[in-house]
Amino acid sequence: MSIGTIVLDPGHGQYGNRHFPCENYEGDFFEGTQNFVLASYLKAELEKRNFEVILTRKNVWDDPSLSERGETAGKNNAILFLSIHSNAPGPASDKDAYHSVRGAVTYYSLTDEEDVPFFMALNREVSKVMNTPDRGIKTREYPDKPGVDYYGVIRASVASGCRRAALIEHGFHTNPEDALFLQSDDCLKRLAAAEAEVIDRFLGVGSCI
Ligand SMILES: [Zn+2]
Repeated sequence: MSIGTIVLDPGHGQYGNRHFPCENYEGDFFEGTQNFVLASYLKAELEKRNFEVILTRKNVWDDPSLSERGETAGKNNAILFLSIHSNAPGPASDKDAYHSVRGAVTYYSLTDEEDVPFFMALNREVSKVMNTPDRGIKTREYPDKPGVDYYGVIRASVASGCRRAALIEHGFHTNPEDALFLQSDDCLKRLAAAEAEVIDRFLGVGSCI
């Protein structure tokens, strides 16, 4: 029997954000594809632990709107909405440091203080398995709109009724070490198993005993 529905949202479409771990990189890895691969492994790991899992992209080439992705959580009474991404420095960042920035960060909803320990544990585990710095958990407010979440998927999840909504940046696909990890099926499988363990610990049957 299912112990709750989790919506996993592999960020972007198939060819969203080419990995760019060094100058003149010509590899064929894309954040949008690797997000889908990781989400698929995480789905399998969570199903082993009796969660029901819905992916916002049924196929790697699907690319629904941000609001459609977030609303999937409320429509299915999900107990968790998790958007899966990897990171890149912003356009204003220091050019020399572009490829050296690394680490995992989790953004969660401004409306959800209760799940801070859960998201901290999840981000810590991602950092540990990826052997990358733990950049911590953060909320991000929409500019000039106090109390409104910045990320569209988190906003839509909360508006549809699922406040336990977060976006995890699994390292930087612009960094050689993080990108190498994200390009390995074995590494992504290990990461999925470790994330599922934390989710199960906080939201699974054992969490209420
Ligand atoms: Zn992304």
